[in-house]
Amino acid sequence: MRPIKHVEKGLTLVAGAVHCTIQSVNKYKPNPSFTPKWSEKPLLKSWQKSKPTLGWPRTTDSLCPNCVIEARESILSGKQDVSVLINEKVGEIKAQIIERDGEIWMVKDCAMHGHFEDMMAIDAKFLTHIEKMFPGRDIDAHNDEKLHNHGTSTIKYGRGAVLTVDLTNRCNMMCDPCFMDANQVGFVHELSMDDIKEILDNAISIKPRRQMSVQFSGGEPSISPHFLESIRYSRKVGYNSVQAATNGIEFAKSKEFCRQAAEAGLRYVYLQFDGIGNDANSHRQVGNLFDVKMRAINNLHEAGVEIVLVTTLVNGINNDQVGSIIRFALDNPKKIAFLSFQPVSFTGRDEEITEQRR
Ligand code: SF4
Repeated sequence: MRPIKHVEKGLTLVAGAVHCTIQSVNKYKPNPSFTPKWSEKPLLKSWQKSKPTLGWPRTTDSLCPNCVIEARESILSGKQDVSVLINEKVGEIKAQIIERDGEIWMVKDCAMHGHFEDMMAIDAKFLTHIEKMFPGRDIDAHNDEKLHNHGTSTIKYGRGAVLTVDLTNRCNMMCDPCFMDANQVGFVHELSMDDIKEILDNAISIKPRRQMSVQFSGGEPSISPHFLESIRYSRKVGYNSVQAATNGIEFAKSKEFCRQAAEAGLRYVYLQFDGIGNDANSHRQVGNLFDVKMRAINNLHEAGVEIVLVTTLVNGINNDQVGSIIRFALDNPKKIAFLSFQPVSFTGRDEEITEQRR
């Protein structure tokens, strides 16, 4: 080890010891906590923050995936009222989180639909490390009982970071996977401008303020007739960072549209981006999709909108693209602000995926 590394290690140990000492002194003689403008309760000291039970084996609350599908169908067909989601524990079952052969698994049984198992981590040590880094729960939610009454899913802590508003379930693509089942559910669900204003007004007015960023999503948000006005209104009522999760087609089609979006106040696009080259994007069934992405990136950059590439990783489809995407971002530092890798989620179009394919 180089001498500088020993110095760094020594400094880290000293800093850790000083931090622990200050924390214990603070605990016995604490200064009053600060109450920010956006909250009516003071912020918590680190030692006041609670934690859920971590580690394993442990029991946790979970859902039966089949009960969830059945409940939704019964609400949509009118057999049950949507209020059951608030008043009853629809689909809720207990699950065990266990370690098995160095991996972490969630194991659960539904009285109606049988046994389910899902791998949570391929490396138990890594998950232990991640759980150890959890800083504790944030400030209690307050003054939002009417707005956030979601039954047992009601948010209890924290101030949140991003408000996601799905403007429409229409899309100009037909991907598999699609987290939303855009275009295929048999009905159009699209917010009116009054709906959008109500959501934005409600979210910005409560304390502690949960959202300072808003992300318009869908389907494809840019084909909503209210896309530009929604951006403009968000900025007007005080959202600092207005974003759109998009496949980029509308932005590739028109520089003028990019200019209008930037002028309305669009700060970031979360651009669907599965790999480098048309082949790496071919699973989305559009032959020249990479060319489209490149044109969208250039048009948006020219208009002054920041670009975050969002890669949905699917094993066996595009997991070999991680390195090339990172290299692409490094080669284009002025155009690409961030990268975001996310695993494919089995919702929407892939909700009923077979065990084997999963
Ligand atoms: S994944 Fe995105 S782009 Fe593809 S169909 Fe769904 S909403 Fe549209």
